[in-house]
Amino acid sequence: MDKKIKFSTKCIHSGEYIDKETGAVNTPIFQSSTFVLSDEDYKKILEGKAREAWIYSRYGNPTRRATERKIAEICKGEDALLFSSGMAAISTTLLTFLSEGDEIITSLDLYGGTQSFIKNELPKFGIRVRYVDPTNLDEIKEMATEKTRVLYFETLSNPVLKIVDLAQLVEIGKRLNAIVIVDNTFLTPYNLTPLSYGVDVEIHSITKYLNGHSDVVGGVVVGSKKFVDMIWERMIRYGGAMDPFSAYLLERGIKTLSLRMERHNLNALRVANFLLTHPKVRRVIYPTLDTYPYIITSVKYLTKGAGGMVSFEIKGDDEDGLKFMRNLKIIKEATSLGGVESLVSMPFNTSHASLTKEEREKIGIGPGFIRLSVGIEDVDDLIWDIDQALKKI
Ligand SMILES: *Cc1c(COP(=O)(O)O)cnc(C)c1O
Repeated sequence: MDKKIKFSTKCIHSGEYIDKETGAVNTPIFQSSTFVLSDEDYKKILEGKAREAWIYSRYGNPTRRATERKIAEICKGEDALLFSSGMAAISTTLLTFLSEGDEIITSLDLYGGTQSFIKNELPKFGIRVRYVDPTNLDEIKEMATEKTRVLYFETLSNPVLKIVDLAQLVEIGKRLNAIVIVDNTFLTPYNLTPLSYGVDVEIHSITKYLNGHSDVVGGVVVGSKKFVDMIWERMIRYGGAMDPFSAYLLERGIKTLSLRMERHNLNALRVANFLLTHPKVRRVIYPTLDTYPYIITSVKYLTKGAGGMVSFEIKGDDEDGLKFMRNLKIIKEATSLGGVESLVSMPFNTSHASLTKEEREKIGIGPGFIRLSVGIEDVDDLIWDIDQALKKI
């Protein structure tokens, strides 16, 4: 096609598997662990091109491949690779690019599971970890050595919503000759496409916005074909491949990504503005509020919106926070985020329970810190719910 296809059209049509026999408009679920081998397949195996053949579903599966192609297109990458969880994508990618003696520069402002993997597992392989503040990338220059191999950050961090200046990060990465990897789960390619700023590898927990319906756990990496092929080699060794049914659900979810993100963006901004004026609320964090400390960076990158995550601190302690959550009637108290339904949790006893109290306070998770994933319900109902629950504390 000559026409340059836009984002929403790509979400629906990119990658779709055209079944020649039936003309099915949806990608079939190839619920098969293995495939009949042909001479052509054997040849590809011998040439080290097993990824281009249908051999065995850990290596590749047509349903999964269709979804990978869709994600590669919407993220403006050459290729993508799906995993059985976001953590499988993250651990496999880091172990692809890091070897004994290497160093990684990252931040404590990360999803708790990622932070825990980096802190507890990487040193076992003889990999050294150095931490910086993601909003002060000049620190990287002080921390960097000739062994720095990877820079790893979240485009919008969990749960303090710190934004990384991607252009600056990429420039530093180039100078250090390091691989720049970002987790773009919170923003999604609807709000930001890191690869177009020169990032090497983009990762998502598709469990969140990309799938969007809280019914699949999975992860994806996107980047150049060269890098994705390198990660694929490790994926088949470590084994964290996505199953065909999850890939089917994910493809179905992505078809409505634009509609969902548009509403998440609007609803979250409305909720954030409501919280800002509430007498029971001490602090609100949302990247497009005037009060956001990194507003200069966020307006530069977030031209469509800032996603559905709103963090805030109530006037009170963690006990009051728990009480607030228990009193909600529509919004559910559950970990995870990015689904159509609004969810609320406190990082101290969920996503960031693996950090010490001091580590949490260092990154800005104080007492009464609430993480709200604003869904796509009618926003007036959400605001009513939050207000009635806040009144009870
Ligand atoms: C949830 C999450 C992960 C981990 O993904 P899983 O699918 O739960 O393994 C990684 N990064 C971020 C930002 C997340 O929110």
